Amino acid sequence: MPGQIEDLTALHARHGRYPQADSVEDFRRNLAAVQRRIVEACRRVGRDPAEVRLLPVSKTFDEAHLRLAYAAGCRLLGENKVQEAQRKWQAMTDLQDLQWSVIGHLQTNKAKQVARFASEFQALDSLRVAEALDSRLRIEGRQMDVFVQVNTSGEASKYGLAPVDVAAFVAAMPAFPTLRVRGLMTLALFSADVGRVRPCFVRLHELRDRLLQNVPDGVSLQALSMGMSGDFEIAIEEGATVVRVGQAIFGARAMPDAYYWPTADTRPLREDTLLSITPSR
Ligand SMILES: *Cc1c(COP(=O)(O)O)cnc(C)c1O
Repeated sequence: MPGQIEDLTALHARHGRYPQADSVEDFRRNLAAVQRRIVEACRRVGRDPAEVRLLPVSKTFDEAHLRLAYAAGCRLLGENKVQEAQRKWQAMTDLQDLQWSVIGHLQTNKAKQVARFASEFQALDSLRVAEALDSRLRIEGRQMDVFVQVNTSGEASKYGLAPVDVAAFVAAMPAFPTLRVRGLMTLALFSADVGRVRPCFVRLHELRDRLLQNVPDGVSLQALSMGMSGDFEIAIEEGATVVRVGQAIFGARAMPDAYYWPTADTRPLREDTLLSITPSR
């Protein structure tokens, strides 16, 4: 489509580094900048920006910074690791309307914690986890929005279901009535090459459209959670309805991504992508 992003390195250079946010004003500025980029990406492909929800991702940042983000208007924060999320939730229960989205891989033995404090879980990729979450949620008397994570990059190490397995997985979801399936989630390949990133998003969108012909009762596949700081505009061009953005709001993370994704350190082009956006201080 004309006007779509063709060069990620140029895009990152244009938007500069990820500035650290250390005050409410910083967060307001970064949030506004991301929202502007969401609006521009929607315009390029004729979408309504109201269709795109921005999920701020607060992993690795401390409680003080999360409170600043809250003061700047964030009411739902994404966290990748259960223990870190739980610790922050416990420390911040005074903010009664602050909700938590767990966006990282979950082991069944942590389902209990997630069922207690999260309002959303975006990385559902096994029936065992679905079962564990559902039984804990029944005990808690709660329900939870969930996204089915799909591996669209074909990287063996990435979490998520293979695209061919998603139909059967979705068909099994009505057995877990506390899980409100909202849609699909994916992480694109880490690359500065748009030609390798965009197909991941296209794959998720096309998979979803095929699945729409046969969606079980009580399951929705309307939502597509795809795109993060480095690639959210491309994801929006390809139909994202949720973008998970950390660094462009909170500032560059010191933590290597390998901590969150087992093999992030083996992805050859990640470095190139980051070089253009990482502050030198
Ligand atoms: C950290 C993370 C993001 C956000 O990444 P940024 O580069 O900080 O925008 C998105 N999705 C998942 C699953 C993550 O763990």
